[in-house]
Amino acid sequence: MWDFETEPEYQAKLDWVEEFMREKVEPLDFLDASPYDKSDERMMRVLRPLQQEVRDQGLWACHLGPELGGQGYGQVKLALLNEILGRSRFAPSVFGCQAPDSGNAEIIAHFGTEEQKARYLEPLLDGEISSAYSMTEPHAGADPTLFTTRAERDGDHWVINGEKWFTSNAKYASFFIVMAVTNPDAGPYDRMSQIIVPRETPGIEVVRNVGVGSESSREGGHGYIRYTDVRVPADHVLGGEGKAFAIAQTRLGGGRIHHAMRTIAQARRAFDMMCERALSRQVRGSRRDTDRTPLSTLQMTQEKIADSWLQIEQFRLLVLRTAWLIDKHGDYLKVRKDIAAVKVAMPAVLHDVAQRALHLHGALGASNEMPFAAMMIGAEVLGIADGPTEVHKITLAKQVLRQYAPHEGLFPSGHLPSRREQAQARLAELLEHEAAQV
Ligand SMILES: Cc1cc2nc3c(=O)[nH]c(=O)nc-3n(C[C@H](O)[C@H](O)[C@H](O)COP(=O)(O)OP(=O)(O)OC[C@H]3O[C@@H](n4cnc5c(N)ncnc54)[C@H](O)[C@@H]3O)c2cc1C
Repeated sequence: MWDFETEPEYQAKLDWVEEFMREKVEPLDFLDASPYDKSDERMMRVLRPLQQEVRDQGLWACHLGPELGGQGYGQVKLALLNEILGRSRFAPSVFGCQAPDSGNAEIIAHFGTEEQKARYLEPLLDGEISSAYSMTEPHAGADPTLFTTRAERDGDHWVINGEKWFTSNAKYASFFIVMAVTNPDAGPYDRMSQIIVPRETPGIEVVRNVGVGSESSREGGHGYIRYTDVRVPADHVLGGEGKAFAIAQTRLGGGRIHHAMRTIAQARRAFDMMCERALSRQVRGSRRDTDRTPLSTLQMTQEKIADSWLQIEQFRLLVLRTAWLIDKHGDYLKVRKDIAAVKVAMPAVLHDVAQRALHLHGALGASNEMPFAAMMIGAEVLGIADGPTEVHKITLAKQVLRQYAPHEGLFPSGHLPSRREQAQARLAELLEHEAAQV
């Protein structure tokens, strides 16, 4: 069955979300506070009642199944929700689906022991703590087989040494999930494990918090972390020794599609502002010096609007279709191709739409009084974080090529003279019969 409509009960929830976002959530983005800082009592006093309203609506932690306190709506409905929530940096925390906690929760739920779930997953799902994922190293990121952070067994403990970089939200995290080499003699994809490291463990040093973009004076949110003789109990390995790659795939697959859902919201926001500007800004008309006409009447403005609308709608359909495939298969590995395609398309859509919107706003658009410059660096980040575009294009092409086989013979299977010859041979009998009838 093909259907592009939202069922009325869920649409009513989405309508509620639209108003709730506008009235109560989006204003929070102007606070000088982080939704991840659970020690900020002032901010938590604002956040908790809003989270309760979301729970009362049955919309808390929609990325998870009911067994984990989520709603089990599936990825398509999550996409319809996230394409609204993506407008606001606070919204995912208000709705209990903020990255990187959402991905960390997913892998502890999938691979964790009962003790790990009780100690780390439950408070994470309740929104009481934040977490971080510590995989990328300063010398290597896109190719995880090059990571060198080492965890060595010492009695009942693992002892971790190494450096990690771009560990988002490190400064607010109550625990880190660290990817480290535990089995150096195994093959490149079986050498590493994911280890849960509580924040208070001695030996964790945040060298600095790196930011993105041009504001070099402000502290960023991505931790450069040095682990020196960090001892954690042996039972803090997640999902078994050597399983880091399989776990990372589960985590990153979900993370990528969720970012894509939220990116639709960002691109739409830029698009809405572009259209408003096109209708509002007057420029000189073509006939007389005194003529005034809105930007929207100029064809090159209309082209920007048409191209942007098309890009957003095409991308949205790709995201929704991929979400539908995830629901159908229940296995991220079966939709690797589709997730890679979404990951490749995502930065380009946001970049192009934000760039056009910036341009149509002139100097104001390039200033720090509008969000376009931040959106454009955000688009670049989307093309790097969770694996660069090039790597995902390679995955996409390899997966697509699996559906094809080489063709034997001098000319390709689409060669027109060869096809004509084959068609004539196949239809010879029928053609002869037809000719006899004439
Ligand atoms: C805002 C932000 C948040 C992040 N959060 C986290 C986090 O919470 N935890 C974490 O562990 N990491 C995080 N990262 C790191 C991210 O996952 C890495 O940046 C990413 O995997 C790329 O690694 P790299 O930066 O070392 O780039 P490199 O591996 O050095 O690659 C640099 C460039 O080389 C090219 N390239 C690399 N490999 C190939 C290839 N095979 N084929 C063709 N070209 C290639 C690409 O152009 C690529 O952009 C974050 C990054 C950003 C920007």
